[in-house]
Amino acid sequence: MKKIASNKLDNIKTSIFSIMTEMANKYNAINLSQGFPDFPGPEFLKDAACKAIRENKNQYVPSIGIPELREAISRKYKRFYNLDFDPNTEITVFSGATEALYSTLSGILNSGDEVILLEPCYDAYAPVCDFNYSKPKYIRLEYPDFKISQGQIQEAFNENTKCIIINTPNNPTSRVFDKNELKLIGDLCVENDCYIITDEVYEHITFEKTHTPMASIKGLKDRVITISSTAKTFSLTGWKIGFALADEDITRPIRNFHQFVTFCTPGPFQYAMAEAMDLKPNDPYFKNLKEQYLERRNLLNSKLIEVGLKTIPTEGTYYIVADISSFKITNDVEFCEFLTKKIGVAAIPMSAFYYHENKVDKLIRFCFSKKIENLEMAAERLENLKSYLKE
Ligand code: PMP
Ligand code: GLN
Repeated sequence: MKKIASNKLDNIKTSIFSIMTEMANKYNAINLSQGFPDFPGPEFLKDAACKAIRENKNQYVPSIGIPELREAISRKYKRFYNLDFDPNTEITVFSGATEALYSTLSGILNSGDEVILLEPCYDAYAPVCDFNYSKPKYIRLEYPDFKISQGQIQEAFNENTKCIIINTPNNPTSRVFDKNELKLIGDLCVENDCYIITDEVYEHITFEKTHTPMASIKGLKDRVITISSTAKTFSLTGWKIGFALADEDITRPIRNFHQFVTFCTPGPFQYAMAEAMDLKPNDPYFKNLKEQYLERRNLLNSKLIEVGLKTIPTEGTYYIVADISSFKITNDVEFCEFLTKKIGVAAIPMSAFYYHENKVDKLIRFCFSKKIENLEMAAERLENLKSYLKE
């Protein structure tokens, strides 16, 4: 029989998030692998979605998103970042940041285009490049500081480069890129006439540092496509409400592509998220979000250090990167399997976020968006790791 799978799937494997969550469930491990909260999202948003359903707002909505949500997103970007986006021509709602990324890249890429990716990088970027017959070009952010440095990035650009994908706050490194790092990328994109896709889904989960939106860097707004989502900020990852903000000429092809992926994103969740987008920066919601994640980060981080894992300071997101070099098992995939099956705590092997031949295989990622009681139970179990330290 003819080969059934499309060649564009040749490099695609099962997502590491599905693999580790399945393993965690099978072995009854505390799941600190996949990034989703195990606590309920805000009541006011659940009420708002139920209200929309009961008011029979249950039919297809406009493909680009309901005007109430697009207008609220526009007000939010003005209020938080002093950025102006026209809700009619520059803001589009998608089924999560994942679909926003897919429709954006598919809407702008041609076969043979090159896309610069900063490695380690979130697992959804490279496959979408493959789907569009374009070529990812990887620039490595070197462990342990994962900083963006000029030389390497400069060399990555050539006449085929269409865009670069940035993710700040960054999953999986937990870095919040500094303004000067973003500016460096911006300058190179202007010089080489390239677009910048910036994934800012963790924009509100930062600690000692503050988030700088790429679009706020002077002179860049007309070549930046900002992608964000309500999943992380409002702890409702299953609702899949994401959006993209970009100049009208960039928005047009992205919208055209999106029409034939999902056509539109579920309406009741859009009505609810329109309320969320209208929260003011000084609303206690944002202060609580940070405080609660800070407590969780500190709890897990101190335990990881105590049992012999070296950790990298988490500047943003709800992940902690840990170095397993002091343990007898030094390969990240084997370590995560052992951790899940024998210790009862699941984490993500970071080699899943690397694509070059010589992958970094001594780092693992823990997620702390979990109930305090579950983090405490994980801490108790992690105590048993001590007996596996190298002599
Ligand atoms: N980008 C990054 C960096 C992520 O960690 C995630 C996971 N939430 C996404 C995009 C996908 O977001 P969504 O659930 O809104 O599709
Ligand atoms: N963003 C989440 C993480 O990094 C996972 C999302 C997914 O399962 N696709 O863990």
